[in-house]
Amino acid sequence: MTPSDTRPSPLPLLVLGRGTDLHTERGVECPGDLPAPSDPGLVERARAAKAALGDQVFVLGHHYQRDEVIEFADVTGDSFKLAKDAAARPEAPYIVFCGVHFMAESADILTSDEQTVILPDLAAGCSMADMAAIRQVEDAWDDLVEAGVADRTIPVTYMNSSAAIKAFTGRHGGTICTSSNARTALTWALDQAGTGGKVLFLPDQHLGRNTYVRDLGGSLDGCVVFDPHKPMGGLTRQQLEDATMILWRGHCSVHGRFSLAAVEQARREIPGVKVIVHPECQHEVVEAADEVGSTEKIIKTIAAAPPGTKWVVGTELNLVRRLAAQFPEQQIAFLEKNVCYCSTMNRIDLPHLVWALESLVAGRVVNPIHVDADVAHHARVALDQMLALPGETHRD
Ligand code: SF4
Repeated sequence: MTPSDTRPSPLPLLVLGRGTDLHTERGVECPGDLPAPSDPGLVERARAAKAALGDQVFVLGHHYQRDEVIEFADVTGDSFKLAKDAAARPEAPYIVFCGVHFMAESADILTSDEQTVILPDLAAGCSMADMAAIRQVEDAWDDLVEAGVADRTIPVTYMNSSAAIKAFTGRHGGTICTSSNARTALTWALDQAGTGGKVLFLPDQHLGRNTYVRDLGGSLDGCVVFDPHKPMGGLTRQQLEDATMILWRGHCSVHGRFSLAAVEQARREIPGVKVIVHPECQHEVVEAADEVGSTEKIIKTIAAAPPGTKWVVGTELNLVRRLAAQFPEQQIAFLEKNVCYCSTMNRIDLPHLVWALESLVAGRVVNPIHVDADVAHHARVALDQMLALPGETHRD
């Protein structure tokens, strides 16, 4: 081996970025001694710790969590429903959020100062949220100012983003959206932007494109993709001027992998099948599907279908497996054999949950999520704008 072979690689191999960029969704390792995953008493330990804590703790479980974790959730749902559920339980001083980092941040913003939100594993981030760092977004806004379009641009930011990006949205008069109210949010934002106005849609290009084209009847030609790694997003002034939707170059590393080929294969192999997918999927997949909707809509649609309905489902695998178990009278399959679980969602496992609960029993708060007060204030402005959207009642 030559000396050059031992030089450190220039590549940032620690992809979760331990402590390097805490203002984004990049996670860090958990401190402390976790129970061994092989401990046969884990389920009993979780039960005992939860019983000992009683009303002191409220456990939230996102739909994409593992079964072993969902079993201990007081409520299940998607990100905003869970944050609202937490806010509706002010008597619980500790909220254990079994989900990913941006969700715990939103819960911290929406709950009272007396409540502490705990994320059992700080490495449970979201690759989509990580695709928009606040510095990149502020630089992009400077580019829009330079191109002369910022004063006609309203940011619309998907819930799946860091608190810092939500705060940016609040500072610039925009709104947060979810996968179920993106249409309403986009309609509002385009109205605010006025004639020749634009939306900067963050951070999921697919949700932005699908909503604009599929739900609002917009044209694909009206969309451009802003690449934060290129000067001026890789776009010309004219392209920015001509665009209605400026889509951030971000995507979900789970939903973005479902393919048109998988939809076509399902239709070939399962006669009469219905394809239902999440709007974070690529546009061509959404266009080929029978039904498109948020996680909550997928659950409700399948629950309401008659026995014998055949489905292939394009969303996170933990949820699809649970749906198949819950509705055995229907034939439910996962859309794409090459797509795995959401790896960061799956960071929350029973050992981490037991560790978080037993630490509380022992009087220790581990992995609290605290959003900076100024960031929380402006993020709250954008979240409140979402709640003020026409027809806004329950969001997910
Ligand atoms: S499923 Fe996608 S959007 Fe959801 S947490 Fe995982 S990477 Fe993020």
